Parts: sequence; C-alpha cells; structure tokens
Amino acid sequence: MKNERIKSDTTELLYETDGMITEFEAAVYEAGEDPDTGKCYVILDRTAFFPEGGGQLSDTGVIITGDGKSIRVTDVQNVDGSVRHYIDGTISADERITGKIDAGQRFSRMQNHGAEHLLCGLIHRRFGYENVGFHMSEEGVTFDVDGPLTEEDIRDIERMANEAVFKNVPVTVSFPTEEEAKRTEYRSKLDTYEDIRLVTIEGYDVCACCAPHVASTGQLGVIKILSYMPHRGGMRLFMIAGMDAYNDYVYLHDSNAEIMEILSAKRDRTAEFVRDFADRQMLLKEENRILKSELTSAVAENVIEGIRGRGFTDHGPEVIWENRLDETGLRNLINECTGQYEGIVCAFSGNDNEGYRYIFAVCKNRAKTAGLRDFADDFNRVCKGRGGGSDIMVFGSTSGTSGEIKAYFNERAGQKE
Ligand SMILES: [Zn+2]
Repeated sequence: MKNERIKSDTTELLYETDGMITEFEAAVYEAGEDPDTGKCYVILDRTAFFPEGGGQLSDTGVIITGDGKSIRVTDVQNVDGSVRHYIDGTISADERITGKIDAGQRFSRMQNHGAEHLLCGLIHRRFGYENVGFHMSEEGVTFDVDGPLTEEDIRDIERMANEAVFKNVPVTVSFPTEEEAKRTEYRSKLDTYEDIRLVTIEGYDVCACCAPHVASTGQLGVIKILSYMPHRGGMRLFMIAGMDAYNDYVYLHDSNAEIMEILSAKRDRTAEFVRDFADRQMLLKEENRILKSELTSAVAENVIEGIRGRGFTDHGPEVIWENRLDETGLRNLINECTGQYEGIVCAFSGNDNEGYRYIFAVCKNRAKTAGLRDFADDFNRVCKGRGGGSDIMVFGSTSGTSGEIKAYFNERAGQKE
C-alpha cells in the first residue's frame, strides 16, 4: 500500500515532522554490508533522509564523518524497520556524523508531491474520486483518479490549486490515535487505523502519506497539468510543480521566442503563424508535386527525342543523367522511355563524391530476351556497384565516378560495333 507509514524501531525519522530539514547530526547505530550486493550501509539513530516509499524515490546526499570525510549516500531503503543509508565508503559504528541531503532535489520532489496532494484533494472534494495511482519520475508526477473529468473540470481544478498556492495555507502533519483515525475523514484510508500519519493541507485535503512535505502551499510554486487521458474508467493526469514548472516555462518561453523570430510572429500569436505556415507548406508541396510531374514529362520528351534520332529499335543502353528528379520521378521517366524504346534504359542520379543511384529497365515484352539482370551484374562488377530487382527493372547504387561509368558504356558500345 503506497501511503503506509514507514516505521523504524532504531531511527528517529526527522522528515516525518519537518520536511524542511536538510542537515542534521546523528550517531551511527549500525554499520554493515549487504550480502547480496556487497554495498556498505549505515543505520543512524536519527535521519532526515527519506527512504524510498509511496512511489517516491529516496533522497541522496552525503554523510560527513567526525574527521571531515565526505561520503556519498546513493540510496536509502527501509529494510524490515531499519533505514539503511547505502554509502560509497565505510563508516564505523558509534561514530558521530553530519548528514546533508541533496536539498534541491528533495525540495523539487516535495513541490511535485505536495501539488499532487492538493490536486487530488480538490478532485476528491468536488467529484468524490479517489486517487488510485501515483508515480513520480524526473519528468514529473503521473497520478490516476477513479472517475471521468472533462477538459473544463481539469482547467478548474488546476486554477483552484494555484489559488490555494497564492493563499499560502499551512501544510501540517499529525499522528492520530486509532480512535481519532477511525473518526477522521481522510483520503487513502488504509486497512488499519494504527500508526497513521496524516498530511493536512488546511481547507483542501487530508491524506495518509509517508513522505516529507513542504510547510505551506506557497512553497509548492506554480502547478501545471501537462496532459491527461481516460484510464480504466477514470483519468490519468500528468503534472509538474514548483521549480520544474518554472524550468518548463523558461524552456517554452525560449522556444516560443525562437518561433517568433523565425516567423516574425507576435508573442501571443505564434500558434496562428505556425498554422498558416503549415497550410502554406501543404500548398507548396502540392505545387511541387505538379511541377515535378511536368519536369518528368519534359525530361522524358527530351530523352525520347534523342532516341528518335537514333531509332526506336535496340541500339544498346540508352543512358540518362538526371539529378532534378526524385526516385518516383526517375521511375516515371524510365517508364515513359521504356514504353517507346526497345533497348535497355539506364538512369543515373548523384555525384562523384557521394556516389550514384541508378535504375536500369527494359520494356515488358523484352523482359525475356533483353538480359537485364546479366547486364546489371556486369555493370556492378566493373563499376563497383550493387543492386537487385526483376527482369524489367533493377535498382542499385555505385561508388564509381561519372567518368568510370561513361567509360564503361563507351567500351560496351565499342565492343558491339
Ligand atoms: Zn503523499
């Protein structure tokens, strides 16, 4: 169960009552080594480090030993009631230490976690939905509620959450007795009323929770729901708050400023300008398609004109060098040519530096007799090419230069004579 209170017989959990403590003094209660991973750990008599729990990762930081050595705390886990601080080094038992958690990371997580409480509290009070999923990552918080919400509902809830931030109401922690817990209305009710830890956002939410929290809603900063979708009959929402929301704003501002510059658009009208730009691009694409098809016909006509001069009967490979057409254009050109010429048609596009792509083809009714594949094999062997296809069309590429390719065709023509 995600919100079950983390309990320790040996360690006073400072973060439970004050989430703002980032530095503390403590004594090493036990030092050990995990038999499975070989990782060293210490158990302290008190700690501000939050062990992983309730969908939130553990704190990291450093432990400074009595003689001033700084040892990295890479992970903190609750193992059967003992809070193990896994460390990159060794510390002996009974030593006095100073613990320092990575305060920026902790604060940012508290902002995101607290904002999620606030949003879920608002959704619960307005719609009666329960929070049925929670996951915190570096990107933000994903949480699920068990009922549907419209776009308007979500905008309302988001606005109300930010208003609660501006009101700066206290966020408090309490430990009700079993009897008190039974009588109290709160979210995330557990199976038991023993050892309950309640996090209360005054006027907005009461929820059982194990994690550290900010002292008042003003510390949460801006709350922004970035996306949402229907999920198992309810909704899945993704949000960020505080420093993450600020960083996101900076990123979006910079990105918007870049669009303003590229499109000479006004700050509040970039979407409109981008839409116009996309519409115009569609038109240009269509125009380009028509022009390409006209170019293909013009080039084909030109090539056929040349063939006409030499006669349409097979007088050896007809070679075309054409860089203006794309693959489709080249294919269409080849098709127009083989429709008229009896011999093999070879189209090349490219340059000496990057190599050439080619299409070799022959008209359908010469497929059996023209020997297109043998021709392509011979070309590839001599001109460092590779490719494949059928008896009527072969696609390939060659690293040979235009000079080498032309020499190959000249030599062929010479042999034939
Ligand atoms: Zn919580």
